[in-house]
Amino acid sequence: MYAKVIVDVAAAQTNRAFDYRIPEEFDGIVKPGMRIVVPFGPRKIQGFVWKITDQTELSRVKPLQEILDPYPVLTNELLELGEWLALETVCFLITAYQSMIPSAIRAKPKKILRPAGDPAELPAELQPLFAETKEINWEQAAAGKEIRLALKKALQNEELIIDYRLQDRTNKKTVRVLRLPSSGPTKDYKTELGNKAKKQTEVMNWISSYYPNTSVTAQTVMKQLGVTQGVIQSLVKKGLLLEEYREIYRDPYEHHSFSETERPLLTDQQKQVLQPIHTAVEKREYVPFLLHGVTGSGKTEVYLRAIETVLDKGKEAIVLVPEISLTPQMVERFKERFGSQVAVLHSALSSGEKYDEWRKVHRKEVKVAVGARSAVFAPFENLGIVIIDEEHEGSYKQEDHPRYHARQVALWRGNYHGCPVILGSATPSLESYARASRNVYQLLELPGRVNNTAMPEVEITDMREELKQGNRSAFSRLLLEKIRDRLNKGEQIVLFLNRRGYSTFVMCRNCGYTAACPHCEITLTYHHTGRLLKCHYCGYHEPMVNKCPECDSDHIRFFGTGTQKVQEEITQLLPEARVIRMDVDTTSRKGSHEKLLQSFRNEEADILLGTQMIAKGLDFPKITLVGVLAADTMLHLPDFRAPERTFQLLTQVSGRAGRDKLRGEVVVQTYTPEHYSIQYARTHDFQAFAQAEMGQRKRGGYPPYYYITLLTVSHENAAKAMKTVDQMAAHLKTALSPESKILGPTVSPIARIKDRYRYQCMIKYKNEPDLIRILNDMHSNYQKEMAKEDLTISIDMEPQMFM
Ligand code: ADP
Ligand code: ZN
Ligand code: ZN
Repeated sequence: MYAKVIVDVAAAQTNRAFDYRIPEEFDGIVKPGMRIVVPFGPRKIQGFVWKITDQTELSRVKPLQEILDPYPVLTNELLELGEWLALETVCFLITAYQSMIPSAIRAKPKKILRPAGDPAELPAELQPLFAETKEINWEQAAAGKEIRLALKKALQNEELIIDYRLQDRTNKKTVRVLRLPSSGPTKDYKTELGNKAKKQTEVMNWISSYYPNTSVTAQTVMKQLGVTQGVIQSLVKKGLLLEEYREIYRDPYEHHSFSETERPLLTDQQKQVLQPIHTAVEKREYVPFLLHGVTGSGKTEVYLRAIETVLDKGKEAIVLVPEISLTPQMVERFKERFGSQVAVLHSALSSGEKYDEWRKVHRKEVKVAVGARSAVFAPFENLGIVIIDEEHEGSYKQEDHPRYHARQVALWRGNYHGCPVILGSATPSLESYARASRNVYQLLELPGRVNNTAMPEVEITDMREELKQGNRSAFSRLLLEKIRDRLNKGEQIVLFLNRRGYSTFVMCRNCGYTAACPHCEITLTYHHTGRLLKCHYCGYHEPMVNKCPECDSDHIRFFGTGTQKVQEEITQLLPEARVIRMDVDTTSRKGSHEKLLQSFRNEEADILLGTQMIAKGLDFPKITLVGVLAADTMLHLPDFRAPERTFQLLTQVSGRAGRDKLRGEVVVQTYTPEHYSIQYARTHDFQAFAQAEMGQRKRGGYPPYYYITLLTVSHENAAKAMKTVDQMAAHLKTALSPESKILGPTVSPIARIKDRYRYQCMIKYKNEPDLIRILNDMHSNYQKEMAKEDLTISIDMEPQMFM
């Protein structure tokens, strides 16, 4: 037999399966999806078994060396998904596969073996290995061929358990447990202990009645009965209790207690929405749903109920939430409902913790995986539903190889398993909304809030007016007045500034004019060298102006303020206010994010000032005022999605204000109050926004009317990068149909990163059936050059960022 192996070398020449002979000792043991070690040239490298066949076209085939997994880490489904993903996102197969497994096992951990049960029941030849130890190291134990074979058999028969342990010792976690001796007649502890050892008797009574057949941690015993270490030690010495160390999962939520909450009675809206979902589960049908519900409309409750039905059928569920909303509050709601059936896959976990959570899924010990983007690869084999909350979030797109979108993977898996996929959002992406209106997705709507609480009031202040009245500060009079009012009442305030000192566009303070590209409908970016305004999509440029072309005012200039500057201004205007600032500078250290939020929650500050990183997960009852200091900074990013992102952010922040009893207010400051993004966010009107935005997309030729692919080339030498992207663009112009447009090449919005110059070109197309093949070929053709000359070419099929 032969194994077709995808080796762990990400390069064009190795982007195919290599054949290896399966030695007899591994016959029947090697399975597709296992990681193995194979000889490759002079080296030994890792790889994944892709397929097993009984023939090869090679005359001389080397044997595979070593098996790393007792069970496949990639299921057949994931193997198939990886092939599709590699093709669709133009990456190597190995890259796709590696992205599906946790980093802990990518990092070559130590393999530890231990008996599943009593060591005395192991095959005779293995018993000596465990005579003096509870566990052995695979590398040391499996030196001889014979013994290695026996170990593999035992693993296969589940007589042995394998653990991957990271080299880092802190990753190992054991706990001391106690249990009653099971073999032999149970000693009569009452007579043995007599009347004197009261505490000891109490412990024995308690364990006998509550844990007659299982073990209990020593810590629980000491805490429950208020006994000391010494009491337990005496019992262990007398042989009345057995003591063991057991490896436990590192549970990142162990200090949280989850109570079983009562399920609320569903509202009529929720019932209506759930009905087609239940039907799809029942009928095992792949149905993609778009659940559009305003903030607070009870979407999460819908997810929970849908999952209940899925679990009743004995099936499994994946729930994706944006990284940033993986806050304890969100996780709690799933843990409360489904308890230990939930694994949480979180990028803030240590790599060991993440591996533990993944392993619970892999071993089928849980039925629900809640996690960020990569949880979409959770190795369930009996999926009954996939849910993506806040489906519009940009973070579902991976910005590095493989450049996949979690939505695309979720839909693939739903189709594979024949199960529903729910995409939920208060502000669906235009792409998804368009698909729903063409019935590609089934639209479900929750138009009202649970309990009919009102949406918060949003007020727009026109900063042009402020300037006319002589107010040059970052705060409008209205906002300042409201802040003062909240400070007096002892309520809390959140202030958003779009991003730290990001100021690349030019705006007229007098009339709100910003220069836009006549071809692309996006804002032009100011370049200091040459004083030019440039379009980063098509390369169009014009000279910087000194007077506003609209109103002739000379208040036209660079736009943008940093959080630090705003903080200084607050201190000047309101010296009594206590301010917490949250931006990349104050949150770069691990844990500082949570610490700052906690301190705000404890009311150690009145004002939380930050970039959009604070837009989500803010659920503080005392916040009654949210101020958006400059909506324009987001609105005028050189990105066709800027209006959509603005609408989403404004909706998100107004969803934040006044979640509780205190009514919330939102003040949005802007120089372009008439913009539809801002107007429709004020009236909470998604439909109207979507309609206006669709018109805009049609005019500009953007998704969902066109598809976009972005090519970015970077190199130390600007000319080299430019030349390469020119060549690629020229090639694409001849290879693609005349209906498709190639924009650029042009310099990237961020022209240089880490001393590498960046150039890009954009493909806009409607129907280009060969595009994937053309791009994959082109990517392979440049492989040598990329390796030899340190050239980087990235191909992004569905870019979410244009930086
Ligand atoms: P969304 O996810 O759409 O923002 P949530 O599911 O978080 O909305 O619901 C908002 C609030 O309403 C939560 O506090 C939730 O517990 C509560 N809730 C949801 N459904 C119901 C219901 N049927 N009856 C009572 N309260 C509900
Ligand atoms: Zn003007
Ligand atoms: Zn342009």
